[in-house]
Amino acid sequence: MKRVVTALVAIALGFTLAPVARAVDQPLAGRVIVIDPGHQLGNSNPKFAKQMSATKFNGSIVKGCNTTGTATNQGLPESTFNWKVAKRLRALLEAQGATVRMTRTANSREQWGPCVWDRAGFANDAKADAMISIHADGAASSGHGFHVIAPTAIKGWTTDIVKADRRLARAMITGMTRAGAQPTNYLSSPLSIRGDQSTLNFSNVPTVIVETGNMRNKADAARMSSSAGQQKYAEWLAAGVEQFFS
Ligand SMILES: [Zn+2]
Repeated sequence: MKRVVTALVAIALGFTLAPVARAVDQPLAGRVIVIDPGHQLGNSNPKFAKQMSATKFNGSIVKGCNTTGTATNQGLPESTFNWKVAKRLRALLEAQGATVRMTRTANSREQWGPCVWDRAGFANDAKADAMISIHADGAASSGHGFHVIAPTAIKGWTTDIVKADRRLARAMITGMTRAGAQPTNYLSSPLSIRGDQSTLNFSNVPTVIVETGNMRNKADAARMSSSAGQQKYAEWLAAGVEQFFS
């Protein structure tokens, strides 16, 4: 009889404690988050020139499929930096219970794109709760720090999502700053509202572009080039995502 009681107690405890533990340890359980590692290494490969020349009207202007991105003065391509941070961010978010999907699954000279409108379409199809597009800027060398881009209201394009995008952008700025990331020193605000970004304009789910830092700045470039620095960027981005869902 004693054994039976012990088993019943264990079952009762198991059923009552498990959901509590999950809520504490896995605050992102049930959330679908799309990570978009900006650009692709093969975008600069001449053999993909035709694919890269595709254009689409984005509600504001006609823009190309995708671009090559910037690089550090030492030659670290933005696409590679974005990719490495994206993988680290994926691990951090998955550890908190999120379902994470990536708009590209490799960083290769032998691959191109996907086009920016397809990246947004990927998040739409995934019915993502949030999409984080990871980028790094190529500004004047004196500039450093991160900024977050959200879209302007464009009728028939972003009016349905502009408030949610703004909420996500503010949460990213708050979470990242609290975690130790330095906001931009070369823009008047870490919140940048733009109408020309296809990734934002084609998206129907909360989406922001995070310019994590300036690849042409010595200090930012040094952080971006080391494993420890890439982990920092991932942790800062994760802090922003956590802030959004808290
Ligand atoms: Zn970029």
